[in-house]
Amino acid sequence: MGQLDCLTLLVGMMASLSACRPAATTRMEAYRQPPPPPTNKVVKTDAEWRAQLSQEQYQVLRHAATERPFGPVYEQFRRQGQGTYYCAGCGAELFSSNQKFDSHCGWPSFYDPADAKNVITRDDFAMGMVRTEVLCAVCGGHLGHVFKGEGFPTPTNLRYCINGVALKFVPGPAGGGAGGGQTPPKSDRSDR
Ligand code: FE
Repeated sequence: MGQLDCLTLLVGMMASLSACRPAATTRMEAYRQPPPPPTNKVVKTDAEWRAQLSQEQYQVLRHAATERPFGPVYEQFRRQGQGTYYCAGCGAELFSSNQKFDSHCGWPSFYDPADAKNVITRDDFAMGMVRTEVLCAVCGGHLGHVFKGEGFPTPTNLRYCINGVALKFVPGPAGGGAGGGQTPPKSDRSDR
C-alpha cells in the first residue's frame, strides 16, 4: 500500500470515528427573563424541532436520549442558585430550585415539579427495564425519568432525574417566573 493509500485510509478512519463520537455537550440554556408561557399544546414537525433545537436537545427531547452524566450541564446545575427551570422545547414552567437537590447521580435532580400540570409521566419499558418516564405535558418532550423510594432525605422520596439540556434556567425568586415574560433577545442570554 502506497503512502497516499495509507493517508486516504487514515483520513477515512478518522472521519468514521468522528461520526460515531457523541455530539458536543450542549450547555443548559439560561436567560434573565422567563420565556413566554405556552397557552396551548405545542405541536411541531420533526423538521421544525430540528431547526429550533441544538442537536443534543433534539436527541433528548424528541428521541429520549440521555445526556452524558457529570458533564458541564450538571456542573452548571450544581452552581445555579435560586431560579426556575423551563422546558427548552416550549417554555413551559417545569421545576424550581425550591425542589432541587443534589443526588450525586450526575444529572439535575428535583423531588417534585414546580408546576405539576406541565409535567406528566408514563411507563417506559425501554432497555429491558421498567421505569417511569418524565415528559413535558405541553410539547411532549422527553425530560428524564422519576425514581421512587431511594431514601433521599426529601419530602417526597422521589428523584426526578432530568436532562439539563432539556431545561432553560431563569435565575430569580424560586418558583416564580410563570405568568408572562418577554421573549429574551439573544443578548439577554446569561450563559454566553
Ligand atoms: Fe415542553
